[in-house]
Amino acid sequence: MLEQKTFSEKIKNYALKIGFHACGISKANFLVEDAVFLKKWLDQDHEGEMAYMRNHFEKRTDPRLLVENAKSVISVLLNYFPEKQLHTEDQYKISKYAYGIDYHFVLKDKLSELLSFIEELCGKRTSRIFVDSAPVLDKRWAQKSGLGWIGKNTCLITKEQGSFFFIGEIIIDLDLDADEPIEDYCGSCTKCLNACPTNALVAPYRLDARKCISYLTIENKDEIPDRYKNSFNKWIYGCDICQDVCPWNKKAIPTLIPEFKPSDDLTQMKNEDWQNLEKGKFNNLFKNSAVLRTKFAGLKRNIKFVSD
Ligand code: SF4
Ligand code: SF4
Repeated sequence: MLEQKTFSEKIKNYALKIGFHACGISKANFLVEDAVFLKKWLDQDHEGEMAYMRNHFEKRTDPRLLVENAKSVISVLLNYFPEKQLHTEDQYKISKYAYGIDYHFVLKDKLSELLSFIEELCGKRTSRIFVDSAPVLDKRWAQKSGLGWIGKNTCLITKEQGSFFFIGEIIIDLDLDADEPIEDYCGSCTKCLNACPTNALVAPYRLDARKCISYLTIENKDEIPDRYKNSFNKWIYGCDICQDVCPWNKKAIPTLIPEFKPSDDLTQMKNEDWQNLEKGKFNNLFKNSAVLRTKFAGLKRNIKFVSD
């Protein structure tokens, strides 16, 4: 339908205009293959303490159970690749996605702006915005919409700029033209699997979250198992290794989103400052930051783990 095609193009153009790197559309259908994969992943307990992954299995694999009469999933990517990495090899490291303010705020605001545009264009709709906030398989929707492929490191990778992107969605009861997926360009490369220091990538495309530094430093509420001593390469919040080694990330371009830039205080942190970090300084450094997720005690645990 001509109108449907025009709406889809206008929505995608507007998304680029307000700063998203890319926008793609999928039909809101049941994710048959993902349901099989997710069930197997959960059966193997690969989710660790992320018990929420066990909840809402049906909703996680069928967007029509999340939004009444859902017809389309609109996926967007927002670049967070920093101009400069905060750490050198022997310094304590936090994941690039946590350099600035919590991406949930930024992404949600931008998606609200996109939704307002859609409603101006097509009238009031039944819809919901998702930013990590509900059971939605965001990488899969982005992949189905042709924005990239899911690499052997389990990240969504774009051909133009690699994988340092946040992903968000609008699920909506509006029929739109769906995009086609692109092919997988990992080829015979295995750099991410070889580089993972804890062997969390147990096979291509398969992550055992319980072994992943990102999980162990953020979601994990217990002590970090001693067997990972000397494996963390000084990562104290998250881990970017399997993305940093990915050849496609040579194409990454620094973000233009000012909220993702690190504060001067964070930029100036040295190993000694991390070791002596106190609650007041933590609160100042990470006001409105994703790092709050691990809380002061969690970050101190991580710092101690890589220091001892
Ligand atoms: S984030 Fe780090 S620990 Fe987790 S899979 Fe990638 S390289 Fe391994
Ligand atoms: S490092 Fe190689 S195998 Fe891993 S995600 Fe990138 S291209 Fe794919």
